Amino acid sequence: MKIAIASGKGGTGKTTLAVNLAASAPMPICLLDCDVEEPNAHLFIRAENIQRHPEGVFVPVIDTDRCTLCGKCEAICRFSALVIIGKRLLAYPEMCHACLGCMRICPEEAISPGERILGDVLSGSFGPHQLIWGEMRVGEAMSPPLIEAVQRMAPEDRPLLLDSPPGTSCPMIAAIRDCDFVVLVTEPTSFGLHDLTLAVETARHLKIPCGIVVNRAEKGNTQIQDYAALEDIPVLLEIPFRRSYAESYSRGEKLIDTDPALRKAFTGLWDIIIKKAEDQKTRRAS
Ligand code: SF4
Ligand code: SF4
Repeated sequence: MKIAIASGKGGTGKTTLAVNLAASAPMPICLLDCDVEEPNAHLFIRAENIQRHPEGVFVPVIDTDRCTLCGKCEAICRFSALVIIGKRLLAYPEMCHACLGCMRICPEEAISPGERILGDVLSGSFGPHQLIWGEMRVGEAMSPPLIEAVQRMAPEDRPLLLDSPPGTSCPMIAAIRDCDFVVLVTEPTSFGLHDLTLAVETARHLKIPCGIVVNRAEKGNTQIQDYAALEDIPVLLEIPFRRSYAESYSRGEKLIDTDPALRKAFTGLWDIIIKKAEDQKTRRAS
């Protein structure tokens, strides 16, 4: 079972939901923090026995003795990572998307595999649970391979809870595309609603059922609930707007340790999510 926590934009409380849900899981789970550009689940969870593995991607290495400057690799590269200038073939590894096209098309076998380190994948444990997260190197722009590396490290013997990168672009899609259910976290503002609609469209396009959690919910502000009713999407939980929650967040504490009522609410949320994810698995299998 694979459940994603996502949001149409950053700052809605996605990681807050992910860490509190992980810490109140009724069975051993693995939390995958796929927000590799700005991972912060580990700041709240404080995993033990941490291991770090560098993660790299393919980049072409040119053998200038073999290269005849035929131009086939330059022509196939959609990212302009290979350019012939005068009598030299220049490679720009930071623009390479590791499609391997150049290596396969080269008639002289002048291109061999090199490696560019994108960042690190880290793993550790907290109680009966596991936490895996990625840390992208400063200046690196290509996050999907590192997100995939985080997912490859996931154990197969337990449910996976995945903290997705914010937004609805390639990193978010790379993270959630094979999930059984996605929880969309939003806030009751016009920006929140706008970006929620994009996230809902993305989940629907990927044919993943979704539910909504309203963070910083305010009495009398029902714009998210109205939209959810119109689109027939369940509102799974409302987390009220409270100063004490913001203070505990700023101290790196989990909300479930601040408010026993929220601990109960998160336990109840698991029951709903498990049911919805299992329904989706059954639908996929039939
Ligand atoms: S395809 Fe091979 S031989 Fe042709 S320019 Fe590229 S590296 Fe050189
Ligand atoms: S692997 Fe693909 S993206 Fe990278 S240089 Fe070769 S053709 Fe371009």
